Amino acid sequence: MNVSAHIESVYAEVRRRNPGEPEFHQAAAEVLESLGPALDRHPEYAGAGIVERLVEPERQLMFRVPWVDDQGTVRVNRGFRVEFNSALGPYKGGLRFHPSVNLGIVKFLGFEQIFKNALTGMAIGGGKGGADFDPKGRSDGEIMRFCQSFMTELYRHLGEHTDVPAGDIGVGAREIGYLFGQYKRITNRYESGVLTGKPVAWGGSHARTEATGYGAVYFAQEMLATRGEGFDGRRVVVSGSGNVAVYAVEKVHALGGRVVACSDSSGYLVDENGIDLELLKEVKEVRRARLSAYAEARPAAVFSARGTVYDVRCDVALPCATQNELRREDAVALVKNGVRAVAEGANMPCTPEAVEVFREAGILFGPGKAANAGGVATSALEMQQNAARDTWSFEQTESRLAQVMRDVHTQCRATAEAYGTDADDYVLGANVSGFLRVAEAMLAQG
Ligand code: GLU
Repeated sequence: MNVSAHIESVYAEVRRRNPGEPEFHQAAAEVLESLGPALDRHPEYAGAGIVERLVEPERQLMFRVPWVDDQGTVRVNRGFRVEFNSALGPYKGGLRFHPSVNLGIVKFLGFEQIFKNALTGMAIGGGKGGADFDPKGRSDGEIMRFCQSFMTELYRHLGEHTDVPAGDIGVGAREIGYLFGQYKRITNRYESGVLTGKPVAWGGSHARTEATGYGAVYFAQEMLATRGEGFDGRRVVVSGSGNVAVYAVEKVHALGGRVVACSDSSGYLVDENGIDLELLKEVKEVRRARLSAYAEARPAAVFSARGTVYDVRCDVALPCATQNELRREDAVALVKNGVRAVAEGANMPCTPEAVEVFREAGILFGPGKAANAGGVATSALEMQQNAARDTWSFEQTESRLAQVMRDVHTQCRATAEAYGTDADDYVLGANVSGFLRVAEAMLAQG
């Protein structure tokens, strides 16, 4: 079988075996479409069935999560953990608590995580998990009881050498704290390295909270530098207003750019003076309120419940909200308004049609596997500190993060040149370099 027929047959099998999981099909297709040149050059990987094995998770867990709400009513959610690939290290990837979570979403995220984690050059495999639990409007006590019930099942599958979850949408330091407490209670082990994203006060790493947002901005900075440009004086839009978005805003401002718009699930906000970070943090992190509260406190800012941040003129766009949020029409609007670079802070926020628009227009496009790898890379740094029972300074940790992002960028370009025709093809570069590292380990491990 020739290489393209081989890839087509693997993709057909993905669709047949995983019905009703469009996001997983999309993520698989995106990687498989890049692999032709790698398989041409490495027939040994085709011979060993590496691609067939890669698209099938090593283990998929689905479990009941019962909990009691503040009214005393018993609620039931569904929990997931997909342990996708352990060729390079323990399964590593976040937990997402959001009503949209289902097996297909977790598989798409876990699949992305394999290649992203490989790209960092660190010893981490790929996994992902979560629950269809909606934390919105839930009290602290309800969140705690949910996390405890979730961990009461999941703990038996975890371990610092086995599977190491972290946060994702809906899971931050508070949730990681409750999850860790329950793991410790059940196992009687203070196993710091079993979860990352812990608060700095008891085993967390400096710069982990900031890492994904900072890293995406570093990656965009590297892309711009290849064209002799930078963030200074540039207009930037950031979608989302969660952890990734907030720290992307912070780093853009530190580099002299101006973030003029951000969003949440209720709408988007334009502040031509530049988003006020303290106010944004106060609204989203302390009050856990909607973005309209920002506009109430700052009359010069305009909040709209309709439309998207991508209608706002900008030089750089950083989609940091969720999957498939930036569609073809948004990409067309961005290109029309003169966007120079797009870097994905979220996982797969751009649809394939949007990516195609950027490619045709010659816009620098940093896929999430590369651009948002800073979060998981800093999780791996947290694991290193936990294993050594050590704590590094913020500066030391951030400089390691910055180095990882530079290395990821260099590696993407070098691989894109070696396996394709265009060093700017970061999609090919990220997918092929991630694949080669995982495939080599899988082949060696039999
Ligand atoms: N959820 C993050 C991601 O999408 C981080 C995962 C981790 O730190 O393990 O990469």
